[in-house]
Amino acid sequence: MSARGGAPSVGPRRLTRSFAALPPFAQTALFVDVDGTLLDIAPTPEQVVVPEGLADALRALRHRLGDALAVVSGRPVEQLEALLGDAPYALAGEHGSALRPRPAAEVERCALPTPLPAWYEAAERIAASHEGVRLERKPHGFVLHYRARPALGERLGEEIGALIAGSEAFLLMPARKAWEVRPRGVDKGTAVRTLMRNPPFAARRPLFIGDDVTDEDGISAAEALGGCGLWVPEVFGGPAQVRQWLARAARDATWPAEVGTSA
Ligand SMILES: [Mg+2]
Repeated sequence: MSARGGAPSVGPRRLTRSFAALPPFAQTALFVDVDGTLLDIAPTPEQVVVPEGLADALRALRHRLGDALAVVSGRPVEQLEALLGDAPYALAGEHGSALRPRPAAEVERCALPTPLPAWYEAAERIAASHEGVRLERKPHGFVLHYRARPALGERLGEEIGALIAGSEAFLLMPARKAWEVRPRGVDKGTAVRTLMRNPPFAARRPLFIGDDVTDEDGISAAEALGGCGLWVPEVFGGPAQVRQWLARAARDATWPAEVGTSA
């Protein structure tokens, strides 16, 4: 569980910089973030593009891993389903608070607090007052995207921070050119721990691949369960290299020892 005080810091506490610590392929349960990890970051979340061949590669990887493949994202599960369908066995959305534990299963949701209506209204006003800044509403929080106005990041963080100041139920998290307000106590680590309790994930060692501060919780959970994490900017460079690496793993049924330049 995250208990972050003061200004949130960006970057992982611990980095896995090499592939030496990876679990053996056949014993791995794979957890992958989506935006900035599997998919290139787009100007807005709606504009993201799923490259041709990605779903097929994930499906092949899933079968190679005995179905132990989950994507873990801040996006709602319904969006993940629209993007990737049943290529991943499990989908964890909204930072672990919504879970589709297997294909075609009902989405399970944690009981979570809802932001005050006044917060949504104030966040709408903040977004409307800056050209290029956009509010994304979620059932249990919201995200202020400022990719088009990166220079405004600090100021927007202060404004949203002031809005929710003193809240015990919500926290403010930095994301890729965005600020997210979300409930405390549920994070990507929650999704990893929940899925690791049952087949096909249980009895394997988790590998979590992510690029963002919210992925730290997933990586920490994977480490605590005897697995490890790979940090995209440090290890791969970007999503294209992650996709190539995963496609090679799906083809060869082993974790490639290095990041290649071609699939
Ligand atoms: Mg990400």
